[in-house]
Amino acid sequence: MKRRKFLRNSGTVAAGVISTPLFASFNEPKEEIGTEKEAVLPIAICTWNFGNATAKAWQVLEKGGSALDAVHQGVMVEENDLNNSTVGNGGRPDRDGNVSLDACIMDKDGNCGAVLAMQNIANPISVARKVMEETPHVMLAGKGAEQFAYEQGFKKTDLLTEESKKAWEEWKKTSQYKPIINIENHDTIGMLAIDADGDIAGACTTSGMAYKMAGRVGDSPIIGAGLFVDNEVGGATATGVGEEVVRTVGSFLIVELMRQGKSPQEACEEGVKRIIAKNKDKQDFQIGFIAINKKGETGAYCIHPGFTYRTYTKEGHVNNPSDSYLNK
Ligand code: ASP
Repeated sequence: MKRRKFLRNSGTVAAGVISTPLFASFNEPKEEIGTEKEAVLPIAICTWNFGNATAKAWQVLEKGGSALDAVHQGVMVEENDLNNSTVGNGGRPDRDGNVSLDACIMDKDGNCGAVLAMQNIANPISVARKVMEETPHVMLAGKGAEQFAYEQGFKKTDLLTEESKKAWEEWKKTSQYKPIINIENHDTIGMLAIDADGDIAGACTTSGMAYKMAGRVGDSPIIGAGLFVDNEVGGATATGVGEEVVRTVGSFLIVELMRQGKSPQEACEEGVKRIIAKNKDKQDFQIGFIAINKKGETGAYCIHPGFTYRTYTKEGHVNNPSDSYLNK
């Protein structure tokens, strides 16, 4: 799977629906853009066209598994996919050539766990779940997270694939070693699910922005920014330039807007508009939000066209184009 590249000052986006045919019979969008989708439970949804991930989540849900297990196992599919250069093993490195991963997970009771800038461990979402379930803490970062993972039996893994290494060496030829916020490579997977009991959980995992500064952490492992779940209301998760999502605590904002009565679609739109309002002179970056409410209705919104999200229910497995703020 190729990372998308949003070009500086272009005002347009080179992103497209990922062409990998995952589930041919379900692959075509069937819904109108921006349509509110009626509740059918259980349901799994995720950012981008990560159909293998939603298929895995669905397997769990279909058997009566929990939303927590569904999102955990679902996003792990992408962490394990070496061809996915934006998540987990095979993710693009930082500008020094080290792959550092971020992930978080949240359950129906508001329990959560996260790992930040963790190296050498292939499944950060599993470590995040261990943080949630085995420690009194919510976040572990860097070496501490890695050490904890070894203590929990995770194996040391070299996460830099030959392909990522080549791409990084290519990047170094022209790079001035400055973090360039307007040119980003990203495709975080954020997933939300509601199980047959009506309980909601979420997970989010990423290798972050390609060639980021060492130690840089975006929104994805930050509860409230990259992911938030409230079992009374719904859940939201984000992809895109993490710094902007953190500035507005985007996912928490969207869940709170749903609590106040907005639909998932309206709440995602407001989330994007808050970011636009803070960036009056700059719109050449991408943000995509997805959300689900307690009823199983879904919504999505982004800045630039090109963002899609997967939904899996008993009615089908669909890659839905998101409506966008620009270029309507
Ligand atoms: N949100 C991620 C980050 O800022 C990037 C992405 O969506 O791929 O680290």
